[in-house]
Amino acid sequence: MALLEVNNLDVRFALRQGDVKALRDVCFSLDRGERLGIVGESGAGKSVAAFSLLNLIAKPGYIAGGSITFDGQELTSMSDRALRKVRGHRISMIFQDPMMTLNPVLTIGEQMIECLKAHRRISSREARAISLRKLEQVQIPSPEKRLNHYPHELSGGMRQRIIIAIALLLDPDIIIADEPTTALDVTIQAEIMALLLELCEKHNVALVLITHDLGVVSQVTQRMLVMYAGRVIEEGPTREIINDPQHPYTQGLMNALPQMATPGARLNQIRGSMPSLNKLPTGCAFHPRCDFATRPEGTPRAACTDEVPGFVSSGNCRVACHMVAEMQHAERIPVEEKP
Ligand code: SF4
Ligand code: MG
Repeated sequence: MALLEVNNLDVRFALRQGDVKALRDVCFSLDRGERLGIVGESGAGKSVAAFSLLNLIAKPGYIAGGSITFDGQELTSMSDRALRKVRGHRISMIFQDPMMTLNPVLTIGEQMIECLKAHRRISSREARAISLRKLEQVQIPSPEKRLNHYPHELSGGMRQRIIIAIALLLDPDIIIADEPTTALDVTIQAEIMALLLELCEKHNVALVLITHDLGVVSQVTQRMLVMYAGRVIEEGPTREIINDPQHPYTQGLMNALPQMATPGARLNQIRGSMPSLNKLPTGCAFHPRCDFATRPEGTPRAACTDEVPGFVSSGNCRVACHMVAEMQHAERIPVEEKP
């Protein structure tokens, strides 16, 4: 059995004008120690997916359907009290902004010790010893001294290391990390990501990594989901998707990477932008931006504009696109030889 299993998850936001569907039919699973990336542009629903795993979606958001099972327990119907035990303890979260986790008026040591004592029956001395060990694991120089520091006395990179130490404090089974390095300098981003990867591997912690950065996903994760307008549109082993993306949106994301462009040429950005969730296009939500939604003679494909695509298997991946089979059968013409 998978450690975490998400089935047909529907999340909505109850607004005055009616419900907005923020996630539709999201399914995925995560094994012990596995690292999964959730990728997409902003507005795709990545963070909503992450927050809903712990029932942390802020009102007026709510889980309208589907199930989330963690280690055999259903999380969507769990009481707040039971859920609090899972949260932080067995599943912990790293946010983009370290200040979402750190309390500015408490020292690092106070926060770590308090967190440990809230979940375990231990003395302050034991809690302090564990905190020190965790700070050593995240390679904080002079950890003793850091325990007495307030968050604002530390650099951004140092703060994010401490967040990782706190995430590991209670030896969780899963860490959910939402854009954990976006707020940091590029050089520090790589260090922090490497550290997170190393620690997850070493302690067999499963990781759900939410990011818009395909480079990071390919370095860190074994499997990935690509999301668009609240749905999963491609899922499979990271290497397979990165090497040969099947969904036109994933292909677009790959082509937009700076390293895919000819030096000096303009980046191949996907035209248009993510639709707003309360004004989703009919059929495939990607169709207004998709080059394959139109036939060679210029008429739109009815399937693309009228029918929400279901999943099609492709190798070890699943892809939600009407055209996948056709694109695969079409002879691939090398770019230079195109008429
Ligand atoms: Fe493009 Fe149609 Fe596939 Fe959607 S279903 S991605 S519009 S080809
Ligand atoms: Mg986000």
